[in-house]
Amino acid sequence: MTGPEPTLTARARQAAESVVDPELPMLTLADLGVLRSVELDDDRAVVTITPTYTGCPALVTMKADLRLALAAAGFPDAEIRTTLSPAWTTDWITEEGRRALHEHGIAPPSPVGARTVTLQLLDRPPDPACPRCGSTDTRVVSRFGASACTSQHACSSCAEPFDKVKEL
Ligand SMILES: [Zn+2]
Repeated sequence: MTGPEPTLTARARQAAESVVDPELPMLTLADLGVLRSVELDDDRAVVTITPTYTGCPALVTMKADLRLALAAAGFPDAEIRTTLSPAWTTDWITEEGRRALHEHGIAPPSPVGARTVTLQLLDRPPDPACPRCGSTDTRVVSRFGASACTSQHACSSCAEPFDKVKEL
């Protein structure tokens, strides 16, 4: 198989990975786990992403930002494909991404993979620890935060409100 130069693919990948999520700009698409693959078809970049929340208006921005980043890296006619299967889950957010959320005062989502179906139906996720003081004495203020993918919480210890990325 005579594929394109690996360095070209690496450059396309680097450009795609540097794009940030429109709603959570402290996270790159790589941190979010949204980026499935970056390949070259001759010298044309083909990027496959799995969108996060269904119907998220951020998808349009995400695709436009990817095209811009790839054009700047020398891939002017990049193709952005979306794949919905398997569905994205917050478990795909990398350790680095979770750290970035925490540093920006946003509680990362709890792992969902380990929970059983029964628990998912009966239980809601545990109250998150406050990203500022670490207290677990927090409460839900609203199921919707600054964006559709976050919920709003308040800390009883330091009285600070904070957002949390909802489990999916
Ligand atoms: Zn606190």
